[in-house]
Amino acid sequence: MYKILIANRGEIAVRIIRACKEMNIRTVAIYSEVDKKALHVKLADEAVCIGPAESSKSYLNIKSIIEAANIVKADAIHPGFGFLSESSLFAKICEESNIKFIGPTSKVIDLLGNKANAKITVKNAGLPVIPGSEGSISSIKEATNIAEKIGYPVILKASSGGGGKGIRIVYSKKELPQAFNIVKQESKISFNDDEIYIEKYIENPRHIEIQIIADEYGNIIHLGERDCSIQRKNQKIIEETPSTIVDDKLREKMGKCAVKIAGLVGYTSLGTVEFLVDKDKNFYFMEMNTRIQVEHPITEERTGIDLVKEQIRISAHEKINLKQKDVLFNNHVIECRINAENPLKDFKPSPGIIKGLYMPGGNGIRIDTAIYEGYTIPHNYDSMLIKIIAKGSTRNEAIAKMKRALEELVVDGVETNKEFLYEIIKNPSFIRGEFDTSFINKNFDL
Ligand code: ADP
Ligand code: ADP
Ligand code: MG
Repeated sequence: MYKILIANRGEIAVRIIRACKEMNIRTVAIYSEVDKKALHVKLADEAVCIGPAESSKSYLNIKSIIEAANIVKADAIHPGFGFLSESSLFAKICEESNIKFIGPTSKVIDLLGNKANAKITVKNAGLPVIPGSEGSISSIKEATNIAEKIGYPVILKASSGGGGKGIRIVYSKKELPQAFNIVKQESKISFNDDEIYIEKYIENPRHIEIQIIADEYGNIIHLGERDCSIQRKNQKIIEETPSTIVDDKLREKMGKCAVKIAGLVGYTSLGTVEFLVDKDKNFYFMEMNTRIQVEHPITEERTGIDLVKEQIRISAHEKINLKQKDVLFNNHVIECRINAENPLKDFKPSPGIIKGLYMPGGNGIRIDTAIYEGYTIPHNYDSMLIKIIAKGSTRNEAIAKMKRALEELVVDGVETNKEFLYEIIKNPSFIRGEFDTSFINKNFDL
């Protein structure tokens, strides 16, 4: 591969550019009119403006992006996460334009992108899924019937959902009609698709996901788990590996299951299989994310494997050069997502100018970010600013490093969730490793 266009912005665009540089691959940034001074534009070898600030006219504008790729003669496009990363249409147009889409094939994205349909595929293979509708549901009556069968509470979810949006828990029959209409409407607005499905609401579960990599020659391996149970509004904010509830036996079982699921659809590239794990350590398939994930660095720091480079190599038709038994799990790693938002005002996004910035560093701290002093955070995009990744030989050491990194961090000019994250990592239940997805609701009066 000679030249890659990065169809994204922010820290993930920077992360990808860095991997390309180390591999001697030329990089092309794309940017919207408000992103002229963004770090990914400065770091790339070339940069092309692809439209106005609104995502729909720039980072989601397939026509402009393909045109840009053709003009600069890019061999491949890396979609990062968010934006077009899970668009099977975009992947298909890349394929038809003879530009390598760095990810699975459009066919595979299509198979897994609809979460309700993906569950059917997994269930039919005899693998565990959360009880619920087989595919989407079309009426309140149908939803009510299924809810009676599986028992309340239930959860309604957008089939095309992502980022924790388009999800409602329903505790009784009375609440169901309104929730049905709200989720349908929300999915239409957020994902331009009003298909929804229903499943049993698993109480106090852990969100445990397995990273897999698959090449074009049928080799599939897993790189262990990430525990992403610390969530606010179904959106992850702290992730760690290993999970305090996953022992070697469970890791092997869940890893094998994830590899099987990838095999079912002829998966190639990087991917993550998300599971919910209940109190009795039963695990259930939830969805598969067919892209690099926000929290991928914790797996990199634990295994020493550069996931973005692996992803690029696989796209260049290379074989995975390691076997399952070669994957070594060494450190304990925790990630915190620093967002520009105000916890005191219902986490309202807080865009603006970064007037002062001091980044933590030192032994065991990795920072993935695209902000710098003087940079203006536009209001048009995701509010994630910095990922702090803390690595220690034990969990306590990783927590201690994260704590002091958060103490060192200074971001002046915008509000952030730094103090909120600090409260979490100091919380005694968190320190004991005793928590589940309800942790934030239970411990914080927000
Ligand atoms: P992960 O599973 O990697 O944690 P998330 O579901 O949190 O992924 O979403 C990945 C990132 O992309 C998040 O920062 C989210 O806010 C962002 N994102 C999701 N959908 C979109 C979109 N349509 N446009 C822009 N950003 C998006
Ligand atoms: P997204 O596509 O937005 O990532 P997911 O289906 O992965 O949506 O769910 C996001 C989060 O919502 C999960 O990590 C979990 O905390 C919660 N959740 C989803 N489905 C269930 C369920 N059936 N029971 C309990 N919690 C759930
Ligand atoms: Mg998910």
